[in-house]
Amino acid sequence: MASKGGAIRPTVGHHFSSLLMCSQRAWLDYHGDPKQRAKPPNYLGKLQQEGLEHERIVCESHYPNAIQIPDSGSDAERSSLTIQAMRSGSPAILQAYFMQDGARGIADILELVGPSHSSPTGHLYRVGELKLATALSTSHVMQVAWYHELLRAIQGPGVDDAFFILGDMQRKEVSMSGVHDTFERCKQQLFQMRDDDSGPGPHLCRWCKSCPWRDVCVPVLSTQSDVSLLPGVTRRIAQNLKNAGIQTWQQVIQTENGRLEQLGFDWRDLAHIRASSKRLAAGEAVLRYSIRSEEIRNLLAVSIEFVDGYRGSDGHLLPRAVWTESPDGPVQIPLVGDGSWIARVGSLLSSRGAALYGATETVSFLKLLRQNNGPSVKCLDVLDLVESIVHGPIRGLELSNVLHVAEPGSAEPNNSRERVLGLRSVINWLAGSGGCAA
Ligand code: SF4
Repeated sequence: MASKGGAIRPTVGHHFSSLLMCSQRAWLDYHGDPKQRAKPPNYLGKLQQEGLEHERIVCESHYPNAIQIPDSGSDAERSSLTIQAMRSGSPAILQAYFMQDGARGIADILELVGPSHSSPTGHLYRVGELKLATALSTSHVMQVAWYHELLRAIQGPGVDDAFFILGDMQRKEVSMSGVHDTFERCKQQLFQMRDDDSGPGPHLCRWCKSCPWRDVCVPVLSTQSDVSLLPGVTRRIAQNLKNAGIQTWQQVIQTENGRLEQLGFDWRDLAHIRASSKRLAAGEAVLRYSIRSEEIRNLLAVSIEFVDGYRGSDGHLLPRAVWTESPDGPVQIPLVGDGSWIARVGSLLSSRGAALYGATETVSFLKLLRQNNGPSVKCLDVLDLVESIVHGPIRGLELSNVLHVAEPGSAEPNNSRERVLGLRSVINWLAGSGGCAA
């Protein structure tokens, strides 16, 4: 696939997360036509809004005297305002803008380390990023390493660490020299993509569901009956198949097991792949892994209602009620002081596990159970489960299509009842899909 997007775009922080998800995505981020980018699915839009809210709360509470670099103006103006702010020795700079040859970056925060004779600006800063997630991923760290490198080009050496403030308000420091080798590898791969006129080509993966380039790739995969439409076909296996003249998923299915093993398939996956091909032919959901349908179906749908809709004014999560399924439909169990609520939650849970929507609610519920000596049960993040196990087809599988709570305009602050109902429909749908896949 040759470049169609006009000028090649400069390297920015999100190129690193793209690369770690899908090489084609990183290539399209450089070369694709921006007009062909799809809007984020609704559930992702909602997470992005929550991320912006997290940023606002952290900046107001931790950096009230910071200089904010405006998001309007040319690249050169924003970059020059950032350098001016660094010269002034401001205690913090928000949305710091870096512009260098073929490189751009916007760091959420530059935090003053102190004055320095060695720095051309007279001061040293460290990079900080605000993330809604409660655990760091490699792509978060690579992104911050990129901003660290752009900052270092301005102020010189002297600061080795960068930091994150996570969704649970924890601060995490990361040594940049400790991730240097991984960062350099990623950077070299990206520069290779940037300089290459042809991309590696689309390949159906777990990230396609929310990828901005899905409208470019998925029709191609579908028209070509690409081998990646079958679960368990990695890029390496797809290349082996191509070398052997096997171009479509139908040809894969017609190939005998022994030959498929020679081409890189794990014999344990072959029964699942053949079952998936029947679902694919029928246009039904295909799961990446077999799941235990009965266990999934048996989970109790749970949602957490928070004070002020989502978070307290200091940014910490303040749950005020648990919503669960009951024989009479969704029921609200307020977290009153006498502790009787935990007995009610425990009796509804019994030995069943719980299904929740998203990491925030899952972590919050586990914490509530632990802090109140509640039952020890399995808690499943359904959003994560859908993202990790649903392989295809793509259209119609955005979670918002099933989980109506994620639609824009859904009632805030308390939509927990709808969440419980939405979770039940997702659980049943997954359990139905899993029955055939298992
Ligand atoms: S749609 Fe899928 S294959 Fe295409 S760039 Fe995105 S993640 Fe990669």
